[in-house]
Amino acid sequence: MERVYNFSAGPSMLPLPVLEKVQKELVCYGNSGMSVMEMSHRSKDFEEIIQDAEKLLRELMNIPDNYKVMFLQGGGSTQFAMIPMNLFKKNKKADFVKTGQWAKKAAEEASKFGTANIVASSEDKTYSYIPVLHKEDFSKDADYFYITYNNTIYGTRYTELPDTGDVPLVADISSNIMSEVMDVNKFGLLFAGAQKNVGPAGVTIVIMREDLIGEPIDKTPTMLTYETHAKNNSLYNTPPCFAIYVAKLVFEWIKEMGGVKGIQAINENKAGIIYDFLDASTMFKGTVAYKDRSLMNVPFITDSDELNAKFIKEATSNGFVNLKGHRTVGGMRASIYNAMPVEGVEKLVEFMKKFETENK
Ligand SMILES: *Cc1c(COP(=O)(O)O)cnc(C)c1O
Repeated sequence: MERVYNFSAGPSMLPLPVLEKVQKELVCYGNSGMSVMEMSHRSKDFEEIIQDAEKLLRELMNIPDNYKVMFLQGGGSTQFAMIPMNLFKKNKKADFVKTGQWAKKAAEEASKFGTANIVASSEDKTYSYIPVLHKEDFSKDADYFYITYNNTIYGTRYTELPDTGDVPLVADISSNIMSEVMDVNKFGLLFAGAQKNVGPAGVTIVIMREDLIGEPIDKTPTMLTYETHAKNNSLYNTPPCFAIYVAKLVFEWIKEMGGVKGIQAINENKAGIIYDFLDASTMFKGTVAYKDRSLMNVPFITDSDELNAKFIKEATSNGFVNLKGHRTVGGMRASIYNAMPVEGVEKLVEFMKKFETENK
C-alpha cells in the first residue's frame, strides 16, 4: 500500500527521509554491529546520539547556555505534575490561562499541590480563541505563569506572549515545538512530548532555566525531580533511546529544511493555503478567531453533521486520513505539522473543492 497523507493530531507524520534513514540503520547502526534499540545507553555510540540530539536542539531553537535540556519520559501529561512539584518553591501558587483541555489538566494537577489560579478562560466559546490578558489580573506572588502555546484540540495559538515580569513563564509547546521561531529567553520552562512535531512517542523534551531547577516539594520522587535528570544529562536511568535517536534525525532534517525559520515559512504557507480556502468556501468554514489561528491544527466544519461524516469518509478513501475532529469538538481537524509536505495540503484543498462542487 502507498503512504497516505496523515492529518493525525498525534502521533503524527514523520518526514519520509527520516523514516528511510531509520530503516537503513535499523538492524545495524554505524559500526556498532547492532540496532540502536539493542544498545546500552552508556555506550559510546548512544552517548554520541544523545549529545548530538541536544546540540542540534540547542542550535535550532537558539537555546541560551543558562538553560538545561532534558530528554524525559511520561509524555506532556507527566509535566503537568512535575512542574508544580518542582516550581512550587515560594507560595505554592501559579496562574493559568485556560485555553482548552490541556491547560485545564495542567491546572488540575497543580491544584493537588497548591493554588491554581485561572486568570482567563475561553471556555465560554468552546476555546475557539485566546482570551485577552490583563496584567492586573496576574498574581505577583505566583511561582509561575502557565500557558498552552498551541492548543492542539481547538486550533488556537498565542501570537503574543503575556508579559509576566519576574514570574517565570511556563509553556506547553507539545504541538508547536520547532514549528515557529520562539525566543527561549522569554520562558522559564518549555516542554513538549515529541510525538507531534519532532519524533515518535516516548520522549518528552524539557528546556528549563537553570536557576529554576533545585529543591522540589517534600517527598517528590527522584524520577520526578528535574535536578535528577539535569545533573545526569538525561542519563540517570535508561532514557527512551530509540525515540531520542529518531528525534535527532528529525532535528537534522529540520536543519536541512532551513532550520526553524525555514520550517516556519513553509508552515505559514501551508496554513495559508488551507485557511484561504476555508475563508472562500461556502460549504466549509474554520472555527477559530482569525487572529488566533494555529499554524499546526486547523479545525473546520460544514453546517451539517451528515456532510461532515460524508466528507471524512470520502477523504479517507482518497488517502487523506485522520481528519475527524477531536471527540469533544466534532467536525474536522487537519493537523499539518512540520512533516506534512505542502503537496499534502494542496491536494487536500483540491479534494475539498471537488467535494464542495459535488455536494452543493
Ligand atoms: C498531546 C498534547 C499533550 C499530551 O501529551 P502526552 O504526551 O500524550 O501526555 C499535552 N499538551 C498538548 C498541547 C498536547 O498537544
